[in-house]
Amino acid sequence: MTVVRPSPLWHPFTQHGLEAGMVRIRRAEGAWLECDDGRRILDAISSWWVITHGHRHPAIMQAIKDQADQLDQVIFAGFTHEPAEQVARGLIEIAPHGLAHVFLSDSGSTAVEVALKMALGYWRNRAVPRTKIVALEHAYHGDTVGAMSAGARGVFNAPYDPMLFEVRRIAFPVAGGEQHTLDALEAECKGGTIAAFICEPLILGAGGMLIYDAATLADMHRICAKYDVLFIADEVMTGFGRTGTTFACEQAGIAPDIMCVAKGLTGGALPLAATLCRREIFEAHVSTDRARMFFHSSSFTANPLACAAAATNLKIWKSEPVLARITDLADHQSNAVARLQRDQRLSNVRQLGTIAAFDIAGSANGYLADIALQLRRACLARGVLARPLGATVYVMPPYCVTADELDGAYAAISDAISEVTA
Ligand SMILES: *Cc1c(COP(=O)(O)O)cnc(C)c1O
Repeated sequence: MTVVRPSPLWHPFTQHGLEAGMVRIRRAEGAWLECDDGRRILDAISSWWVITHGHRHPAIMQAIKDQADQLDQVIFAGFTHEPAEQVARGLIEIAPHGLAHVFLSDSGSTAVEVALKMALGYWRNRAVPRTKIVALEHAYHGDTVGAMSAGARGVFNAPYDPMLFEVRRIAFPVAGGEQHTLDALEAECKGGTIAAFICEPLILGAGGMLIYDAATLADMHRICAKYDVLFIADEVMTGFGRTGTTFACEQAGIAPDIMCVAKGLTGGALPLAATLCRREIFEAHVSTDRARMFFHSSSFTANPLACAAAATNLKIWKSEPVLARITDLADHQSNAVARLQRDQRLSNVRQLGTIAAFDIAGSANGYLADIALQLRRACLARGVLARPLGATVYVMPPYCVTADELDGAYAAISDAISEVTA
């Protein structure tokens, strides 16, 4: 494997003092990455949860090439274009009922910033003094300042704490303790000052692949509706099939007031995000008064190349048996999970749809746990890209992965755990 250094590049979530060189990738296909020297690595985390069907889906690649022959970029204030219109219509068609408008941006973090700003603008334009946000303990909503504020406080954001705004936080609904979470949410909502509640539906990703049940998600939604608190579903990770359904909210039968999607929106090929909202939220911003408009844009809002990739991805969801593939993958994951449950070295073996996760028993957790980097290296040496969250290992592959490839990944991970815990 070619390890390249030095380079002027500064990598994300990387301690350069511990990781001297980066693995150089020249090509990808399906569930595989190919290094400069030809070595292959199974992408067991979908390249940070973005690749859904597999790398370089032919129709998405073709759509990007075709779009490049027509229109590269155009200002999106005062202008529109067909790929963006297709993305908006396609999203409304598959999103939970009642989501009627689509605001495009570039990343999950910006989709969350947009959601929070939509909620605050909605109440301000209606002259209702609701300005506070409620979020779940262990939440992760992105790395921009607003998204960090909504996320859990910890080692990730300690240096930036002085600039984060206050968010009301309620306990994660641990199994058996759900009522405590619901009571806390109700107590917050009752006060009448809460603008919105934001959560990752059914599974908290970066917080450690923490799963809670659909009934609790439905109850949280019911409480918000009872007190007129806007319900924001951050489906940036869960969206586009990861949890077994197109969106996680479907499993609770709920329709959020605002929904954020990003990662899998283009199938993972290009950066694009969308924040969907109910009609009332859009309409609260419509007026002849310029001061009531929605004050948000980024230079590349609705970039045509990214929109062409997303529009084609949405077509793939209709024309290919994507949900059947997801069900097959979830079944393969169930088989693996059944085996892992008998493994004494592991604890909390869990699964939601295409995602499987477990903890290394008796290992100190926390994102900075040494074992995370050791395991990552040991897996890489065995041709598997894994990126444990502290002592939590998860497998979240693209949907094209075969049962054999998945078995190979688990064998490599098991071997890596033996090496690291020896
Ligand atoms: C990854 C993630 C984000 C941030 O998305 P970026 O595209 O990395 O900015 C927000 N919310 C959730 C739930 C995520 O998993």
